[in-house]
Parts: sequence; C-alpha cells; structure tokens
Amino acid sequence: MSYHDLINIEEFEKRDTFNSERWWVSFYCKDCKKIVETDRKNPKWYTFLCTICKWKNIVIGTHEGLRSNYKIK
Ligand SMILES: [Zn+2]
Repeated sequence: MSYHDLINIEEFEKRDTFNSERWWVSFYCKDCKKIVETDRKNPKWYTFLCTICKWKNIVIGTHEGLRSNYKIK
C-alpha cells in the first residue's frame, strides 16, 4: 500500500515523511471535525468512510500530524 493507492485522501504532509510500513495512522473527518473511526467499503479501494457521518471527507495522517494540521486538542 502506498500513498498513490489512497484515492480520496488529501495530502498535507510530504510523501517522504509517510511511512506506509508503519501503518499507525489516524483518520480525520473534515465534516465531523475530529478524529474518527473509518470503514473501508471495498478492500480493493482505499476509500475510507467516516463511521459517524458515513461520508468520505477523510484526511489520513499520523495522529500528531493531524493534530498539528487541524489544531485538534
Ligand atoms: Zn464524519
């Protein structure tokens, strides 16, 4: 799995900081404005749906990266 597989994911970090082998990432829903759990509808598609609002306005990143980018407390 690489960054190019993530089709609905907005990038905010440089790719070379993204380590897909250490897949401890968090998902931030821009509609719910918080870090959420996600569903992946189809294992072949890297499309993540927010489990709260059921939409795919998801940003992926490390927890620390998301926190600093979105000012999450
Ligand atoms: Zn949501």
